[in-house]
Amino acid sequence: MQRILIGLLVLSPLVGFTQGEWNQKFEQLGTSLPTANSYRNASGAPGKDYWQQRADYVIDAELNDENQSLTGKETITYFNNSPDQLSYLWLQLDQNMRSKSSDTPLIVENEMTKAMSGRDIQKIVQEYDFDGGFKISKVTDANGKPLKYMINKTMMRVDLPSPLQSGEQISLNVDWSYNIQDRMPLGGRSGYEFFPKDGNYLYTIAQWFPRMAVYDDMEGWQHKQFLGRGEFALEFGNYKVKLTVPADFVVASTGELQNPNQVLTKAQLTKLEEAKQSFDKPVIIVSEEEARKAEQKRASAKKTWEYHASNVRDFAFAASRKFIWDAQAVQLETKTPLAMSYYPKEGNPLWEKESTKAVANTLKTYSRHTVEYPYPVAISVHSASIGMEYPMICFNFGRPNEDGSYTDAVKWGMIGVIIHEVGHNFFPMIINSDERQWSWMDEGLDTFVQSLTEKEHYPAKPLKRGEARLIVDYMKGDKEGIRPIMTNSEQILQFGENAYAKPAAALSILRETIMGPELFDYAFKTYSERWAFKRPSPADFFRTMEDASAVDLDWFWKGWFYTTDHVDLSLSKVKWFKMEIPENEIENKAKKSKKANISSGEKNQNLMDFAQEAETFYMTETVPSAVSKRFNEFMNKTDDQGIMKANADRNFYELTFENKGGLVMPIILQWTYEDGSVEREYIPAEIWKKNENVVTKVFAKFKKVTNIVIDPEKETADVAIQNNVFPRIENNSRFDQFQNGGE
Ligand SMILES: [Zn+2]
Repeated sequence: MQRILIGLLVLSPLVGFTQGEWNQKFEQLGTSLPTANSYRNASGAPGKDYWQQRADYVIDAELNDENQSLTGKETITYFNNSPDQLSYLWLQLDQNMRSKSSDTPLIVENEMTKAMSGRDIQKIVQEYDFDGGFKISKVTDANGKPLKYMINKTMMRVDLPSPLQSGEQISLNVDWSYNIQDRMPLGGRSGYEFFPKDGNYLYTIAQWFPRMAVYDDMEGWQHKQFLGRGEFALEFGNYKVKLTVPADFVVASTGELQNPNQVLTKAQLTKLEEAKQSFDKPVIIVSEEEARKAEQKRASAKKTWEYHASNVRDFAFAASRKFIWDAQAVQLETKTPLAMSYYPKEGNPLWEKESTKAVANTLKTYSRHTVEYPYPVAISVHSASIGMEYPMICFNFGRPNEDGSYTDAVKWGMIGVIIHEVGHNFFPMIINSDERQWSWMDEGLDTFVQSLTEKEHYPAKPLKRGEARLIVDYMKGDKEGIRPIMTNSEQILQFGENAYAKPAAALSILRETIMGPELFDYAFKTYSERWAFKRPSPADFFRTMEDASAVDLDWFWKGWFYTTDHVDLSLSKVKWFKMEIPENEIENKAKKSKKANISSGEKNQNLMDFAQEAETFYMTETVPSAVSKRFNEFMNKTDDQGIMKANADRNFYELTFENKGGLVMPIILQWTYEDGSVEREYIPAEIWKKNENVVTKVFAKFKKVTNIVIDPEKETADVAIQNNVFPRIENNSRFDQFQNGGE
């Protein structure tokens, strides 16, 4: 109570309306979010009428190793769970990104330079040379009757003879083929790698069949064209897939193998069973020796591998006669999925040591922070130069030198990408966000949990993303090159920083600094549980994080996700006061004090040091208010003498903070006292609620302060730390001496 009274006395002359320009930095998100409805409610959860479509697939496909092509036929059964009737269906033809009619090469900006490498030239001419894209040979209804269809680049509209009513389902058949591209020169999320030394191919196959486009309550048909960057929007469904390959190939796939007896040897079957009981280390199912032998021959016979998968949003596979295969069981809370890796000898010795272990570690940490991993297998496939994710299976880089040696950078890079891509099983394969719109919803959330996984299982690994300090250089960069996180995937600049690093750093700041791990983890898990096997929007995430924590985060989403502002808080003024103790009784001082201008602070203007002595202020008699009767009743009980006595030794520090970067943030203060002791204070971001530019606040301390630092542990991504320190120091490196750890 005493402190409030003194506070009133000192602050009253300072409180005014000098707030500068108002840019709504600290505001409710309000109209920026869509209006809640019965499909998705205002707490960020699926609403009572939530619905989503379903698409089941039966696919029969053959991989041709002679000419690197794929031929397939599928039956799609589409369930219209929407309240709407649909007179046509949209299918995604992702391979058409490589067709002659593709927009992708047309919209790439490029220019000639005086000296161009073969690769530079290839990038310009390759699009003219490769015969890519789906060749659709048949689209019929369940009875084989042709359906009318129209192909618009990467989307195909199938016109229905009569509208598909709400609650109805329809089956259609599509036959197709396409040439698989050499991923090394042409790039891409799937394709093949050719190994000239042994003449073999390693296929990583995805976006390989016509897939249903999404129809939902937010977009209607989500058929924004696939241009290459913005990833995928997909429906859940069940898959039955038969993959015919040369008989000496090993196939790794989404789903569970249905016919192991037909495609594996007795010894391999035994090893696979052994792996299901091995929780501490992988069991080799196909050894390097076997793979080396297989490389030398070419089977003329074929084998068909059958895989089934339930409740997945996509299906991918990899195939090669070069594959080594290992597997181990992972003990989760209630489930024991198999972690598996497939890699050519070129991946060893690194892959047999680290890959499956990294898969297992990922499943454990992510299952704790999100939902328990629901699928029977999780696979990491060695794939030069890319990292790409699909349900239960992902393709990852990390290749040692030819003699088997490798640097730490290669090892950590490989472990990092495996954790990241396996982590994508959770975002977006299970928590099924729309990647075509929002890259951050899967990349950012995944990168954040990736950083938690790395810290837990690989403390020696240098963290690349997921901490405040790692985003500073990007945040303070030229704003011309920065877009808000809430930007469509195709329009993002500095993709890795925007979609991965910044949201991961923002979530880390939320967890470690603003909410604390207990509130954050509960809310983050709630979001994951609410939206597992459903389709969340950005608003569902923002709302759930608040809903489950009782922390108003609108200002945080606004600053970090909707703007390109950065954090730069400055400690701009420090004034030191002490109470002057009157020789006579308090009443006599009242008149005198009215003339005293205690806020001039002349002795305190120097930012390089504290004043030699404190400014003084007088305490006045608490006089009755002319306007408030209630105040007077209360004030009559005020013990002025007691207050003076209690605070005579106090130092009053009036601090002025400026928000120079635009992002409002909590003010974390570290006080160092004359006796060497240190105290931390946390001022919530709400301090900026009425003035987003500059705030002034008084702190009363018995001890004399020698040093004040804002954000001593560098946990808020403040881009200019020189102005965080009082007294100012000329040499920046000295800032470190005011920190306790913090890296
Ligand atoms: Zn990713």
